[in-house]
Amino acid sequence: MRVRIPSVPYLNRLRTLTVRVRLAPSPTGTLHLGTARTALFNWLFAKKEGGTFLLRIEDTDIERSKESYINNIFDGLKWLGINWNESPIIQSKRVNEHKKIIETLLNKGFAYRCYASESELDEMRETQKKNGLAPRYDNRHRNLTPEQESKFIKDGRNPVIRFKINDQKIISWNDLIRGEMTWSGKDLGGDMVIARRAPADSIGDPLYNLVVVVDDSAMQISHVIRGEDHLANTAKQILLYEALDLNIPVFAHTPLILNSEGKKLSKRDGVTSISDFKEMGYTSEAMANYMTLLGWSVPEGINERFKISEISDVFSFEKVNKASAKFDWDKLNWLNSQVIHEMSPITLLDNLEPLFKRNGWKLPSQEWGINLAELLGPSMVLINDGVNQAKPFFEEPQLHEDGKKQLEIKEAKEVLRFILENLEKLDSSSISNQQALDLLSQATKTCKVKKGLVMKSLRAALFGTLNGPDLIKSWVLLSRFSKDRTRIRRFL
Ligand code: GLU
Repeated sequence: MRVRIPSVPYLNRLRTLTVRVRLAPSPTGTLHLGTARTALFNWLFAKKEGGTFLLRIEDTDIERSKESYINNIFDGLKWLGINWNESPIIQSKRVNEHKKIIETLLNKGFAYRCYASESELDEMRETQKKNGLAPRYDNRHRNLTPEQESKFIKDGRNPVIRFKINDQKIISWNDLIRGEMTWSGKDLGGDMVIARRAPADSIGDPLYNLVVVVDDSAMQISHVIRGEDHLANTAKQILLYEALDLNIPVFAHTPLILNSEGKKLSKRDGVTSISDFKEMGYTSEAMANYMTLLGWSVPEGINERFKISEISDVFSFEKVNKASAKFDWDKLNWLNSQVIHEMSPITLLDNLEPLFKRNGWKLPSQEWGINLAELLGPSMVLINDGVNQAKPFFEEPQLHEDGKKQLEIKEAKEVLRFILENLEKLDSSSISNQQALDLLSQATKTCKVKKGLVMKSLRAALFGTLNGPDLIKSWVLLSRFSKDRTRIRRFL
């Protein structure tokens, strides 16, 4: 899709612009699920339209912004497979541009200095509250006389700069997700602050709505795709675009993500950062897949399990719901297990190995690792499940209650002794599948017990519990380190 936008003054004709979208995260925290989902929708849309996806780091809140958060955001996006074009824009470096525009607004009479002190503003809001009114700035300093201004300056007051908002104005836009939107100027809280307090002969730090408009315009953003918590900001920003005579981008407001109780997903829900999900053992593929489904319904005939690189052709905002999306752990887990089950053992091992290394576990050989991954994969939901399940292959297992009971059975010892004696007769500590199977049937016959008893007793001795993956394969892997012999010996 090419977007037709109105002509700019120096181009006296309608021109077409390719799609340019952006993600504008504030590096005041790690990459949040909601931001990552917004990134995905931007990225999918740009990909579909052959457009450009840009990053802008909104770091103007110097105190709360951190370099480590910027890195976390970059790493999280890369991990999810979301790549961006061009170097990221660092907003704080553009402060002079922002101030220049504020100056223009002041010169043109669209903005003014407001000297009201914090306590006066508090008092104003208190009175409004008492009278049952919604709190808003009452535009008290919109029309100060030069004498009044001089007096405030002499009194040592530092003003903020406010942008005039016409209460009568009806602001409307055609939202790609929400359709026709209208917002009344009177619901925007009065004239808005666009620069923080500073001496009257200077311009204080420019604020969010102003800088976003200046930067989106400078970056020639064609579509602003962001969370619906920005709806009121969009109305305010449209007023700024109009005052500055800039092209207004197309807007799309994505639905919020709610927790299972229907509340906005927040830090209180535990994991909300992409890096947390990674840490828990979710795969990037399942995360990206699941996040795309948070608010977007797949078109008919398309499977809900997909790779984001394959889905951009069918992505459209028509299929993005207006209603909030509920976070569904079961679905995410299901997708993650699907991704793991579809992995080749070598890829699964690639995912597991860094975690093994973190625990100080060394693979005796690549082939052994692949066999282990193949053994554990089918029962894994999270990558970390594989680590938990692999633990008894590397470390002495704990004897669990079920294992303990099994080993108390009278015949268990006899069975284990038989197996150990026969293992010791072998040349090599590594046994084959066939040798393991043969040994089990010989133990069954010789000790005159059921095969189940042999298997359970052996499993309990080797792994400390009665649950686990295929016993023969597990045993064969364990025999590589002679651990089967040492573990059996513990109970004789
Ligand atoms: N920094 C803003 C945020 O993180 C950006 C919002 C926008 O996309 O304009 O919410």
